[in-house]
Amino acid sequence: MVQRNATRIKIDKLDSAFGNISGLDLKIGDIVFEEEDVFEPQGPTPMPNLTELRSWYLNLLNRYPPAYAPICDMCCLCTYGKCNLAKGRRGACGIDIKTQQARIVEIACCIGASCHSSHGIHLLHWMLEKYGPDYPINLGDDIAVEAPMVRLICGIQIKTLGDLETVFKFIESQIIHLLSAGHTGQEGSFIDYEAKALHAGVMDLIGLEGSDLAQLMLFKKQGQETPLVELGMGCMNPNKPNILMIGHNAAPGIEMVDYIKEKGLNEKIDIGAICCTAHDLTRYWDQVKIVGSMSRQLRFIRSGVPDVVMVDEQCVRTDIIWEARKIKAAFIATN
Ligand code: SF4
Repeated sequence: MVQRNATRIKIDKLDSAFGNISGLDLKIGDIVFEEEDVFEPQGPTPMPNLTELRSWYLNLLNRYPPAYAPICDMCCLCTYGKCNLAKGRRGACGIDIKTQQARIVEIACCIGASCHSSHGIHLLHWMLEKYGPDYPINLGDDIAVEAPMVRLICGIQIKTLGDLETVFKFIESQIIHLLSAGHTGQEGSFIDYEAKALHAGVMDLIGLEGSDLAQLMLFKKQGQETPLVELGMGCMNPNKPNILMIGHNAAPGIEMVDYIKEKGLNEKIDIGAICCTAHDLTRYWDQVKIVGSMSRQLRFIRSGVPDVVMVDEQCVRTDIIWEARKIKAAFIATN
């Protein structure tokens, strides 16, 4: 376990029986906690920041140089502009079209990485509240390496929810810096934007792995087979009260399922879901039905079958509340 930028001790003046101290400023960078069963020797850059991996990224980009085909010559990202970057022009901030293209890619990579990890963090916070940081992460005897990317990049072994939180805090710290680089006047080199995009990709890799670990711990009991469930709009029973869930974060859906079971309403209510929430909920309860992919939202709601529409996060049509209102369905926004 590595704790980065662990602590700082500052003493301006101290007169004591042991002696006098003045102007002491002690910074401790990383503290490495040796564990009894170290899984492998620690590498040189556990939880690396962009600067530490920059030469590696540049090496890759030297071998696979980026190519640009702008779909737009304008930049409208700040109030200095908009700026026309066509025909070799530079914007009011000095950026050229290649660097602008690389910047858009870098920002897009940050958006994607943030969405994956923010979902994992939502789940993690919910689990920390329920089970606490010492809750063990145990994937069973068939899995020898619980999170290969996290081990490789962060240099730690995830044994508890608390370890998982350490990984997500690292990701958050990196994405903040990467996103700030997209601001006006922060970076003038297209190749450095590409290096930053690769770093966002690395954060995404470990964020995905961390999110999946959280999901596995949440949804699937050890030794349990993934159930076969019904699929498609036609599997919903319009003669029963219908609940439709949409999104990516199954935690609110799990609370709903627990409530339905607690009230003994299992057979009286039909639950269907769309997008990732659908697949994840079926891992928790095999009576949940998969209505379809995210493209089916409007079609199913306009069928008039749902009595309740419950959304969580991501891939939810932003006008879904108005569609639910048209069929007089109750609408619940969670997360
Ligand atoms: S970021 Fe630069 S190029 Fe874009 S609008 Fe602002 S000044 Fe112009």
